[in-house]
Amino acid sequence: MKRPCKNIVLFGPPGAGKGTQATFLKEKYELIHISTGDVFRFNIKNQTDLGNQAKAYMDKGLLVPDSITINMLAAEVEKHPHAKGFIFDGFPRTQDQAKALDALLQSKKTTVHAMIALEVADDILVERLLERGKTSGRPDDANEAVIRNRIKIYYQETDVLKAYYQSQNKYFGVDGVGTILSITERLCDVIDAL
Ligand code: ADP
Repeated sequence: MKRPCKNIVLFGPPGAGKGTQATFLKEKYELIHISTGDVFRFNIKNQTDLGNQAKAYMDKGLLVPDSITINMLAAEVEKHPHAKGFIFDGFPRTQDQAKALDALLQSKKTTVHAMIALEVADDILVERLLERGKTSGRPDDANEAVIRNRIKIYYQETDVLKAYYQSQNKYFGVDGVGTILSITERLCDVIDAL
């Protein structure tokens, strides 16, 4: 059966498992996966202007300013004019980003079909990120103070987006603790029911 176009916002705090799960979901549903964090890191590695601008914020665990992030996201979407749909991972993270995403998708006669949030307790997040920091080479995973700052900013600026999508009946919470496979299955149950 051919699956219809779906645009999914994969949501949750740092360390919730968005990137891991997006890798499985993009294959299964033939979606384009855009991770804003990955795009920023690619630009930092290649020392582009964008990377140089983003690095100072990321190293401190702060959000990169909306103007930079929104333009970058729009450019990534434009690279895939024939996409069947997208998994947005790490975007939107602020109200203004959510509004910008709505406008962008509307201009393409489509919409966000669901925000699916991976729910994981804070102490597990810190544990996972410190563990990832041993091998990821990510400076923002290596330092517990930076990790805690990212989680704090998530609650200050990003968590409010649940209400934004809830008011449009597009919000779905999924337990993000368990085996990778069991969590993938929970996510697929939500996507298949859309
Ligand atoms: P995590 O979810 O584990 O924090 P990401 O790779 O998604 O990791 O993001 C790493 C960093 O990149 C963030 O702490 C932030 O500095 C920056 N970043 C990523 N996405 C956004 C965004 N949508 N808006 C602002 N900054 C972002």
